[in-house]
Amino acid sequence: MPELPEVQTVVNDLKQVIIAKEITQIEEFYPGTLRLTCDESNYCSLVLDVQRRGKYILILLESNFLIIVHLRMTGKLIFEEENKDLLKHERARIYFSDDTYLRFDDVRTFGTIDCLNKSELPQYFSRLGIEPLSEEFTYKYLKDNYNSVTSPIKTFLLDQSKIAGLGNIYVCEVLYRAKIHPLTQLKELKPKQLKLLVETIKEVLSQAIECNGTTISDYRRVDDKTGSFQNFLQVYGKEICPLGHPIHRKKIGGRSTYFCPICQQK
Ligand SMILES: [Zn+2]
Repeated sequence: MPELPEVQTVVNDLKQVIIAKEITQIEEFYPGTLRLTCDESNYCSLVLDVQRRGKYILILLESNFLIIVHLRMTGKLIFEEENKDLLKHERARIYFSDDTYLRFDDVRTFGTIDCLNKSELPQYFSRLGIEPLSEEFTYKYLKDNYNSVTSPIKTFLLDQSKIAGLGNIYVCEVLYRAKIHPLTQLKELKPKQLKLLVETIKEVLSQAIECNGTTISDYRRVDDKTGSFQNFLQVYGKEICPLGHPIHRKKIGGRSTYFCPICQQK
């Protein structure tokens, strides 16, 4: 599933190919993919910018509307310059006036494309937590807001209403690198550990963005290339940790959690 670094990579790629292009049509091939609360005249407009919020891709338009894409589990945006046949799992296409287009390919069909007025944005994102790469996300922010949280740190970090953009792979990697056991409660963490946790989140996400994300199964860039952070994973999908200890795999909050019980003691 694409997480913050993969979504940021798609945003960076899209900036290179769709800014200043005019959308002429959005076509849907799988009902439910497009959730448009506006009409054609609102989204047939010039692309001004592409941004990210959590795991959402925001395509900002001159018309004061914006298109919001969520890739969910298997969604991919692929930029094409020539007219090609539909892919087996192609759910929608966004066409531009120079005959280029974006394919929205999605095997599992959970991905969505919304179009709304910019004024609706605060409401749309009202339940989305802080951006982990923002300056506001600090040790103090966690301490001030979540000092009494008793859920496992693993579950807390995956909660998009608390911190936006982290998913299973990066949370496993962050906890290993910060030497924190995934079942530790946030309130049990010492100030030093909490500081290290925040630093590690920022570090791992930044490194993964530099690597253009992690490609394990479906994730691809806009030009169909893969990311390379999978080469730097230390625990996710591994059998032994970098220090040679056996990795344990345990379901926490319904998600497979990889950790080293020796390096990450509770
Ligand atoms: Zn270890």
